[in-house]
Amino acid sequence: MEEKRINIILFGPPGSGKGTQAKQLEEKFGLVQVSTGDLFRYEMGNNTPLGQKAKEYMNKGQLVPDEVTVGMLKNKIDKFPESKGFIFDGFPRTIPQAEALDALLAERGESVNSLIALKVDDDEIVKRLLERGKTSGRADDANEEVIRNRIAVYKAETSPVYNYYAEKDLSVEIEGVGSIEDIQGRLASLIESI
Ligand code: AMP
Repeated sequence: MEEKRINIILFGPPGSGKGTQAKQLEEKFGLVQVSTGDLFRYEMGNNTPLGQKAKEYMNKGQLVPDEVTVGMLKNKIDKFPESKGFIFDGFPRTIPQAEALDALLAERGESVNSLIALKVDDDEIVKRLLERGKTSGRADDANEEVIRNRIAVYKAETSPVYNYYAEKDLSVEIEGVGSIEDIQGRLASLIESI
């Protein structure tokens, strides 16, 4: 029988360590990391029409409109029909995005297996992002006001996605402060138990 693909959403506020953890999980489990933030930054770096559009929103710490984001995500996942599954990092960030993801996966006979949220408080996030901004070259990491806006957007528009999957009994939250290895260990055992 064909092995079932697994689809994990790595969830949490900006600066909670999703990208760092997703990269390690990608290697460990042979999953493909899909970071919509990285995809937008790639487009911005190449100054494509999509990148120019995304830049207007990203530099202010606002969300790129759903239809733009979902279109880009669909193109990405269509490129990996043979993968063992995906780790979604920074997506879905709104309820319509979550509904679009569920529909896209359902068309392929798949579904989200688990949403794992990393819990980190606001002060720690601001500290981490300002620190990252010293080397990341990201305009949205360099300014505390933009960082605070990203946190506010997370609370208002993104955090309901946790409850959306909790209603399907798929959400779990773990502590996001601690050593990278410890957090990786907790994530890995959760994924192994799927
Ligand atoms: P990230 O790299 O995940 O922190 O994302 C950086 C920025 O890219 C966000 O603040 C948004 O402007 C944009 N972005 C990334 N992912 C999404 C998404 N799923 N929906 C809308 N905007 C996004």
